[in-house]
Amino acid sequence: MVMVDLHCHLLPGVDDGSKNMKISLRLAREATENGVTHALLTPHHMNGRYVNHKQDVIRRTEEFQEQLKIHDIPLVVFPGQEVRINGQLLEALDKDDILFADTAGKYIILEFPDDDVPYYTNQMVFDLQQRGIIPVIVHPERNTKIIAQPDLIYQLLEKGCLSQITASSYVGTFGKRVENFSRQLIEAGQGYVFASDAHDLPGRKYEMWQAFDKLHHEFGSELAEQYQKNSRLIINGRNVPLNNLKTIKKRKKYFWLF
Ligand code: FE
Repeated sequence: MVMVDLHCHLLPGVDDGSKNMKISLRLAREATENGVTHALLTPHHMNGRYVNHKQDVIRRTEEFQEQLKIHDIPLVVFPGQEVRINGQLLEALDKDDILFADTAGKYIILEFPDDDVPYYTNQMVFDLQQRGIIPVIVHPERNTKIIAQPDLIYQLLEKGCLSQITASSYVGTFGKRVENFSRQLIEAGQGYVFASDAHDLPGRKYEMWQAFDKLHHEFGSELAEQYQKNSRLIINGRNVPLNNLKTIKKRKKYFWLF
């Protein structure tokens, strides 16, 4: 059974993910224990702190694949990038310095700052779509601006963007608020795939298996299977069936008088 992880920081020494090969191999082993067979390696790119050029990621991914073979870890890895939305993105695309989730260049793994959806996002999404690119927006459930204004992600999904919910978010590793918002997104059809976003951080584990188990129990096997299928469709550059989107009501604010 094929299970694809579309977002992880397993490449050693390139960002705030795995620091060295030993850690990378441990994380890769954890991935396979979670049922992951194929992983898109997505180091941060253009996030203001890390730049991971396309050709470097391709070379390092090949080296990592060699190490996985040597250590007998049955994980197939592909080169990718977690691209931060930024004003130079179109230029980077023109320079052929962007990696996609698929070899056809259809899906870009796109992240926002943790606490913002930049004012130029709609224009950027439009420009990407004009080029035939579909953004897969990563972990909207962890973005504080989106949590406060869920319509922000709804509007992007309505325009044809996809979204990736982080497995750990849904199982509660980032707290109740993120867990509940993950569930709300899923319920409203505003989630498409799970990914690990695995880093080597204290308190962060590979929680793909738990997430799928929970999804199965809360929403049924059909949706769990669809999430897995969507990841396969994305990495193969195929069309993902669009969800029937519903809006999420804003969290009620309670004002205490005393
Ligand atoms: Fe990430």
